[in-house]
Amino acid sequence: MLIKEIGEFNLIKRLSSKLMPPARKVLAGIGDDAAALPSPKDKLQVVTTDMLVEDVHFRTSTAKPFEIGWKSLAANISDIAAMGGEPTYAFVSIGFTSHTTVEFADELYAGMKKIADMYSVDIVGGDTVSAPQIIINIALLGEVEQENLILRSGAKADDVILVTGDLGGADAGLAILEHNLALEDTKKHLMPIPRVSEGRLLAKSGYVTSMIDISDGLASEVNHICDMSGTGALIFMEKIPLSHNVFEVSQKTGKKPYDFALYGGEDYELLFTCHPDKASDLIEEMSIKLGTPLTIIGRITNAPGSLIMDKNGDIFPLQARGYDHFKQV
Ligand code: ADP
Ligand code: MG
Repeated sequence: MLIKEIGEFNLIKRLSSKLMPPARKVLAGIGDDAAALPSPKDKLQVVTTDMLVEDVHFRTSTAKPFEIGWKSLAANISDIAAMGGEPTYAFVSIGFTSHTTVEFADELYAGMKKIADMYSVDIVGGDTVSAPQIIINIALLGEVEQENLILRSGAKADDVILVTGDLGGADAGLAILEHNLALEDTKKHLMPIPRVSEGRLLAKSGYVTSMIDISDGLASEVNHICDMSGTGALIFMEKIPLSHNVFEVSQKTGKKPYDFALYGGEDYELLFTCHPDKASDLIEEMSIKLGTPLTIIGRITNAPGSLIMDKNGDIFPLQARGYDHFKQV
């Protein structure tokens, strides 16, 4: 059934009925003129928004609507995690085309609801319009205690640089779909798992000096930390933990394994810095409490500019070649 057959208001009713019950306190949610939410006491409100456009960020030929819904909220949750915060309330504004079906919208919302429940997020409003392509804009609120807020700007010379989990898996997953490779592992591309518990643990430790989520490739994120902190960085290529699907995809496509991690987007891991004396405590605590590996991949330097050392000890500038919507590098 096409959305245009039931109309905007019936669609909103239908979708919102599936978003019940709320995980948090909602004084007014979907259905009123605006949402009314409790404001966090003694905490900061953190807010992020992300927009996804059909054929730029996702293709309906390779991603199921459930996965598109999941991922669009995951990207926002990851941004809140990178501030040291916990996500709370989401607003979902959507453009559907005249060909979009009600079943597509249902599945999209089922994917969003699934990850929303996992992270105790309530979808409390949005907007629905018709558009020439499918567009999904999510605004997500979150909260963090002032003392646990982690910015990109706090890295200091001699700090070590660490990452959660492994990298390159999302880009390798994308390559599997785009090149129709006979490989299975597309999970990290289609349904990323944002690192909220990890971000909270790191923030509460008091040891982390800067943090960012890896949405546009490691090279780009390291440069963001350096720009905002007024530092440089040296990354040791061999230390970068690669996802296991990277190697298979590299063999089939000829793309170098480390390029998936350095320049591929959407891993949604966390990159952070801390004093070198504190790294082993953090690694141990993270392993015991959450079972998530942390890896030291480099260190912050005084000299501006980020560099990368390869396995031969040769050093090159680490250029941000992550995805830039307006720039062709
Ligand atoms: P208004 O004309 O006042 O903007 P709408 O008819 O657009 O009201 O929206 C009615 C209610 O439904 C509002 O609470 C709005 O936040 C919510 N809403 C609209 N579209 C969506 C959507 N795609 N997802 C979630 N909530 C939505
Ligand atoms: Mg409206």
